[in-house]
Amino acid sequence: MKINSAKFVKGIIGSDDILTDGLPQVAFVGRSNVGKSSVINSLAGVDGLVKTGKKPGKTTEINFFLINRQFYFVDLPGYGYAKLSPTEREKARKRMLWYLTESEARPLVVLILDIKAGLTEFDGQMLELVEEEKLECIVVVNKVDKVNQKEISRQVASIKENPAVKEVIPCSAFTKQGIEPVLEVIANSLDIER
Ligand code: GDP
Repeated sequence: MKINSAKFVKGIIGSDDILTDGLPQVAFVGRSNVGKSSVINSLAGVDGLVKTGKKPGKTTEINFFLINRQFYFVDLPGYGYAKLSPTEREKARKRMLWYLTESEARPLVVLILDIKAGLTEFDGQMLELVEEEKLECIVVVNKVDKVNQKEISRQVASIKENPAVKEVIPCSAFTKQGIEPVLEVIANSLDIER
């Protein structure tokens, strides 16, 4: 799939018409610092679409980006953000849970992991939630430029041991390795013509 246009639409903090406007949503989740913003920018082919290394206070909204005028990339608040105050962290967590379990969004979920950290406890909880909600989910393991092929294979195999994991795609927002395969999986899943 080729992305020809990507633009920020809005950040929401609760119910909003955009959730049910009929366009499919691809929601990105992950621990903070896994490179979620960088991966979204690489997929969209637009540097700076999502600000990387965001300040804590800016991370609790649910941000919508319109892609190819066909579907949305939805940047959910990151979790496990050590720098957020407990109140802000709770706000971000609740908002993300609300979007996935109570809003009518029904997104395709892209869980982003860090190749060095693998599947953490937080991520495991996220997978359980996604499974409970019967949402489709793909796992993208970022920062593979940091390790060798052997380590990539070992980590991918270890992540696949979790029965809730179906598809794992290694990638690097830095080298762009794996970015095209992620787009293809998204396009297939949304059944978008290419
Ligand atoms: P977010 O908090 O998950 O949105 O993460 P960011 O996109 O802001 O990235 C967090 C840090 O990881 C930044 O220092 C990025 O430069 C770095 N980073 C992101 N993607 C990659 C990658 O593919 N490879 C490497 N080596 N570093 C990355």
